[in-house]
Amino acid sequence: LPNQQDDIPLLALDIGGTLIKMVYFSRHGDPLVDDKQKRYLKEGLEVSNGSNRSYPVKGGCLHFLKFDTRKINECLDFIDSKQLHRGGIYWRSSEAASKNNMVIKATGGGAYMYANLFKERLGVNLDKEDEMDSLVAGANFLLKAIHHEAFTHMDGQKEFVQIDENDLFPYLLVNIGSGVSIIKVDGNGSFQRVDGTHAGGGTYCGQGMFLTGCKYSFDELLELSQRGDNKLIDLLVGDIDGKMDYSKIGLSASTIASSFGKVVSEKRKLKDYRHEDISLSLLRMISYNIGHIAYLNAKIYGLKRIFFGGYFIRGHACIMDTISYAVDFRSNGEEKALFLRHDGFVGALGAFMSYEK
Ligand code: ADP
Repeated sequence: LPNQQDDIPLLALDIGGTLIKMVYFSRHGDPLVDDKQKRYLKEGLEVSNGSNRSYPVKGGCLHFLKFDTRKINECLDFIDSKQLHRGGIYWRSSEAASKNNMVIKATGGGAYMYANLFKERLGVNLDKEDEMDSLVAGANFLLKAIHHEAFTHMDGQKEFVQIDENDLFPYLLVNIGSGVSIIKVDGNGSFQRVDGTHAGGGTYCGQGMFLTGCKYSFDELLELSQRGDNKLIDLLVGDIDGKMDYSKIGLSASTIASSFGKVVSEKRKLKDYRHEDISLSLLRMISYNIGHIAYLNAKIYGLKRIFFGGYFIRGHACIMDTISYAVDFRSNGEEKALFLRHDGFVGALGAFMSYEK
């Protein structure tokens, strides 16, 4: 960036209902990465520390981190310890570059809610960027500038899709965070939020906690689902009348007729249902529903590509497979769900890009 000085990092935040996504750029050595990782970055390779990642880019390194919004103080401590908020002053013109004028680009609902906290703790102003503007700017940037950003994921197989930047628009962007936003993107800065659904990633976590007695985190719930069997909870088409030929109405005996529907007619005690099976039924219910609504919107607006982003996906194979199955099933194989390598950070990247405005 034109006014950025050496050694001063530049930071942007997406403060969501569940998670804070952070993107920052550093030019030189960074205490977050050890010597081995520095070598990797020098060789142009990506480095991953748990859910945090660093990528070498021209002139430095881009870092992607997440924090729990509930524990926002950990995020503030991290920013303070590395003095990440100091970068904003160099972005502003020189007369504005005083300590009182430090800014961090921020998006998401929390950019409003926590503005005072940032001012009190770090003496920094949050320069708020609209959430949808940021999502679209982030997605457009990733799809145009990053090689191997988009991919399909079906039956455990990942396949990268090369997008021709001259043939990108229009497309549908489905961001699955705590809730879901569905946006029709027509160009740079040209878009419309056409739909959304309240049953999103937050619903999976919240319902999962309810149904299992608040025992598990998102990662634990997801891990449980890998060992689950949803047939023990969902009512399948074949459970209703096993002899009927469902193919005439485009269904197979294994299609879910009613999520959680089997529980109603069974005499089992609720406490006897396994948490693994509950988690898988819930995951399928939420993911199929999102895939279905996304497909219907693509059909209404005649869009040939649907990209899914948001931290709910976060590269989880089982979630991507379920969404892909839903889109494939509903569209009779005509549409394919596409995923983004930086799925959870689309909005944060968009806010980061806005330093250039
Ligand atoms: P928001 O901006 O609304 O916080 P995100 O895009 O950050 O939305 O996605 C939040 C969702 O991501 C959660 O509701 C949950 O389903 C999912 N998720 C994935 N990984 C995690 C995690 N480690 N901790 C909490 N939620 C996670």
